[in-house]
Amino acid sequence: MRSPFLSCHWSSRLSISSCLRDVIFPGVCSMAAAVVGGSVTGCRRLCGSVLRDLLQPAQGVLFDCDGVLWEGERALPGAPELVQLLHRHGKAALFVSNNSRRSLSELQQRFSRLGFGGVRSEHLFSSALCSALFLRQRLAAQPGAKVYVIGGPGLRTELRDAGLQLVGDPAEEGSGEAETEPESSVRAVLVGYDEEFNFHKLSQACLYLRDPECLLVATDRDPWHLMSGGRRTPGTGSLAAAVETATSRKATVVGKPSVYMFEYVVGRFGIDPSRTLMVGDRLEMDIQFGKNCGLTTILTLTGVSQLADVQANMESDIPAERDLVPDYYVDSIADLIPGLED
Ligand SMILES: [Mg+2]
Repeated sequence: MRSPFLSCHWSSRLSISSCLRDVIFPGVCSMAAAVVGGSVTGCRRLCGSVLRDLLQPAQGVLFDCDGVLWEGERALPGAPELVQLLHRHGKAALFVSNNSRRSLSELQQRFSRLGFGGVRSEHLFSSALCSALFLRQRLAAQPGAKVYVIGGPGLRTELRDAGLQLVGDPAEEGSGEAETEPESSVRAVLVGYDEEFNFHKLSQACLYLRDPECLLVATDRDPWHLMSGGRRTPGTGSLAAAVETATSRKATVVGKPSVYMFEYVVGRFGIDPSRTLMVGDRLEMDIQFGKNCGLTTILTLTGVSQLADVQANMESDIPAERDLVPDYYVDSIADLIPGLED
């Protein structure tokens, strides 16, 4: 079998040290190739002429944010420059984030603060925004319908900006309104990232969800998030699982890997999936999202998933996991820059 790694066309643009490193540590490339069901499948390092042939005809690139563009309050090296370069070449640089903690304006401020120039709010698709659009659409035919929200101020802002009526605001809870809200007026429970999640909120969600017509929606199903120093913090997926367990219901997920987020992207920009790349750091969210939407997928190794995870999927007995292999990988998104340089 010819290793997919070896099929990467080296060019003079590729640094000698980079080539040597892969030769010196052949395990890095062998990990990214496997034979599945008699056919060769693999995840190739994206470099050289393969990189240029992929990027130059591309219409646009979708980026995850945490672990791809930045790590905490630090932009990853080369990330702002890559976004600028895409703009300069007339390509769409769009951002799809499962983070429901921030409102869109807060997210845009973060881009500016971290040195990303020219990123406008219409380029941003957070799970908070997309959940608001989803619920507005689903509840449009029910005047007076209210949403019970498990989530923080940023998510609530996004929902209110979409014209949705909310129960469960902290001020209202203090006045006891959440307990007295007629159950029949609450037509959806939305679960997002909530650092103040508690038994009371879970009980309220259960109360409303006894009505099978009341929607159960989750912004995303991220199980946990990486913190500085390798620490982890629970993600929305862990809160959604609590509500699902307590109600014997299954949430509709709006964020990645669901295609809803991509439908909103296409609705605004009309992009062609066959000419669009998806760059992310988490296999089960970003790469699965790209595959669900028919995009070319690129894993960057600056966040959650590593090559060992790719290899584990390749060797899995579970077909869904075996299919969850990105088309390409890069050490960091700075490795994409040579694909657009003159
Ligand atoms: Mg990420």
